[in-house]
Amino acid sequence: MRKDPAYNDLLADDGDAQAEPQASYRAGCFCGAVEVEVTGKPMFAGYCHCADCQAWSAAPINAFSLWKSDSVRIIKGEAELGTFNKTEHSYRKFCKRCGGHVMTEHPRMRLIDVYANLLKGYQHRPTLHANYASKMVSVRDGLPKYADLPADLGGSGETLPD
Ligand SMILES: [Zn+2]
Ligand SMILES: [Zn+2]
Repeated sequence: MRKDPAYNDLLADDGDAQAEPQASYRAGCFCGAVEVEVTGKPMFAGYCHCADCQAWSAAPINAFSLWKSDSVRIIKGEAELGTFNKTEHSYRKFCKRCGGHVMTEHPRMRLIDVYANLLKGYQHRPTLHANYASKMVSVRDGLPKYADLPADLGGSGETLPD
């Protein structure tokens, strides 16, 4: 994948992606009726602490991996995939059969968050924490903690201590 210069600083860690530039990973819902496949590597990977992710996932933190939309393909159960958007920024996709969450489309960023912990065989290599101002738990991992979002993703770029 070609790097977009605007994203240079925060691009997800290359890791060993060079060896397998077109690796694919699958993510399924809780019951398995819906499956998506991502190819290549994400543009960003990290953790989101926003109130919406907390409420949607019923968990304090969402592990995200953000992919260009053309890297994400629904390979099974498209008719079972429901969408809910509380805001214009996030279209949350879930399985209508089991209620399991699959991914969130972010039209403004033109990226899709496929939940990192659903991707089989994928190694999460986080580079940042987003929306740390609304954190429920602290994560002292030394990664940058953005109050909202990095400037490259349309945020203030302001950072907070661990
Ligand atoms: Zn399901
Ligand atoms: Zn969030």
